[in-house]
Amino acid sequence: MKTAISTLAVECPKHLKHALTLLHESLATERLTPLAGGTDLFVYLNAGSHRGTRFLDLAPCAELRGIKAIKGRLRIGALETFDRIARHPKMAAWPLLVQAARCVGAAQIQNRGTIGGNIANASPAGDSLPVLLAYDALVHVASVRGERTIPFRELQTGYRQLALEADELIVAVELPEVPAGAKQFFRKVGTRAAQSISKVVFAGVLVPGRGGQWSHVRLAWGSMAPITVRSLRAEAALLAHKPSAQAAAWADVALGEDLVPIDDIRSDAEYRLSAARHVLAQFLRSSHAGFRG
Ligand SMILES: Cc1cc2nc3c(=O)[nH]c(=O)nc-3n(C[C@H](O)[C@H](O)[C@H](O)COP(=O)(O)OP(=O)(O)OC[C@H]3O[C@@H](n4cnc5c(N)ncnc54)[C@H](O)[C@@H]3O)c2cc1C
Repeated sequence: MKTAISTLAVECPKHLKHALTLLHESLATERLTPLAGGTDLFVYLNAGSHRGTRFLDLAPCAELRGIKAIKGRLRIGALETFDRIARHPKMAAWPLLVQAARCVGAAQIQNRGTIGGNIANASPAGDSLPVLLAYDALVHVASVRGERTIPFRELQTGYRQLALEADELIVAVELPEVPAGAKQFFRKVGTRAAQSISKVVFAGVLVPGRGGQWSHVRLAWGSMAPITVRSLRAEAALLAHKPSAQAAAWADVALGEDLVPIDDIRSDAEYRLSAARHVLAQFLRSSHAGFRG
């Protein structure tokens, strides 16, 4: 049943410090639910599946906005929308996040939906999440006790579970510099081009070393497990090898051991694994001219 709007209350903080105090104090009664773009929360309210009645509007927190390059790294405020991310000139060195941003929902959702909301919502199908994993992103979080930084790979602890305290907010995400010469690849497999939740979503980074062997390999997947995962065996099959049909075949076999997807409303396990293998083969082919895998 839909949640009645008349039962809901929204707190409007003046700034981030105020928001953190309100969030902390709310733990004594009913925890305030942080509200960013609302594109996930409003769906839950419409379905009557969100239990809370009190919200913390993050919009006034200017500290959660901004896309800034700092010594080759990029800091993206949690309130930045996918539309802003996709259009920002500083994003050019991190094209996978631009591609992911452009396929979240459609224009309306990209205008409201934020990267902080995508991370905190922690759906296994979140489109920005494999990108953050492939880029070795850091997530900055804050509470009344101060700020701390969590590597994205340690943030998701289980299905829709994050290593966040109840009174912590995501403040920003930080992307390290991508190694020179990196081959980067993003692919979302869904039912259609827009307004489609991923059946498989992939982000990959391959860096060739001096001798032509891959010296850095990241293969990150969404919708393939309860959390966003890297296929570590497939990465190991490619690392320190030169691009070759043999290495691609090893990676393909290893991928079948890494990924154990499930059947659900959006797809079945067999299709997901088959699609993932095709996506990886496509990445390997595209990453090395003349290599047919
Ligand atoms: C029609 C439709 C299509 C969609 N398509 C896609 C898609 O293709 N791909 C995809 O990945 N997602 C999709 N989504 C989901 C949604 O748009 C994204 O997850 C979006 O990034 C959520 O951001 P938001 O700002 O709207 O979050 P909100 O709805 O405001 O919040 C989501 C959750 O995050 C928490 N939260 C938000 N900000 C913070 C913060 N800074 N710190 C701590 N907690 C926080 C909230 O409390 C809530 O639990 C779709 C949604 C709709 C309605």
